Amino acid sequence: MALAAFLLALAALASGQSGAPASSCDNCPEWNRPQPPFRVYGNTYYVGPHGLTSILLTSRAGHVLLDGALPESVPQIVANIRSLGFRIEDVKLIVNSHVHFDHGGGISELQRLSGARVAASPWSVEVLTKTGVGKGDPQFGSIVPVALVPRADPLRDGQTLRVGDIKLTAHFTPGHTPGGTSWTWKSCEGGRCLNLVYSDSMTPVSAEGFRFSDSREYPDAVQDFEQSFAFLRAAPCDILLTSHPDASGLWQRLEGRQRGVRPDPVVARNACRELAGRAAEQLRNRLEMEKSR
Ligand SMILES: [Zn+2]
Repeated sequence: MALAAFLLALAALASGQSGAPASSCDNCPEWNRPQPPFRVYGNTYYVGPHGLTSILLTSRAGHVLLDGALPESVPQIVANIRSLGFRIEDVKLIVNSHVHFDHGGGISELQRLSGARVAASPWSVEVLTKTGVGKGDPQFGSIVPVALVPRADPLRDGQTLRVGDIKLTAHFTPGHTPGGTSWTWKSCEGGRCLNLVYSDSMTPVSAEGFRFSDSREYPDAVQDFEQSFAFLRAAPCDILLTSHPDASGLWQRLEGRQRGVRPDPVVARNACRELAGRAAEQLRNRLEMEKSR
């Protein structure tokens, strides 16, 4: 009996079906804590684990998934989609914020389960289909690669993608990685349509020894960040979602909504500008620190 159980466990490991997959990082078990899925607004749903955002946009002609969290998040994401009454098999398009293992790590398996098309910025397409981790990535050397996808289509900055009546626009917001992408779309409830923004990470995090101020591998890092902050300051933004939900205070805002606070605290029209302000300050501090090294 013990041998049979052991062989089953081995088979499960070999096929990646283990009930408790090995964790990819120290923070990962915390990031991957289960989170009941919920409707953000209209056809926009949160389906990720508690610490890593994954967003489902639904339409009668198929769905879109934004970000795939960790490899070990995939069973949760699939179950969350199902518990909302939708099916992973109906996801037609998968896009991402940036191709680090904690946001793009699950994309390969989610693509396999859904058969969806994957589309990404040209820099991210290279990482997703060829290298798993990008040269010029400030965290190059300190992060594990993402699982590769067989095919991903390159996007243009400002390109609008459609699935059914979903219209989703890509905005290149590099800095955290050279291929970072934020997304905008509209969702409606009873004729009231709001502007949603899914912002990529805006943090200047790096491997030991990398300098944002004068990197040979990523010489445009600072001006890329400035471009990304400018996008956030200007974007029509009724609801801000971020690749780490904490970065936009999602759980406090949701708790307010659940307590019945009116107007709905999930709708926060200053949130994008405030995030741009915090991110610009983090970059200033980082560059100041680099001066003294
Ligand atoms: Zn990252």
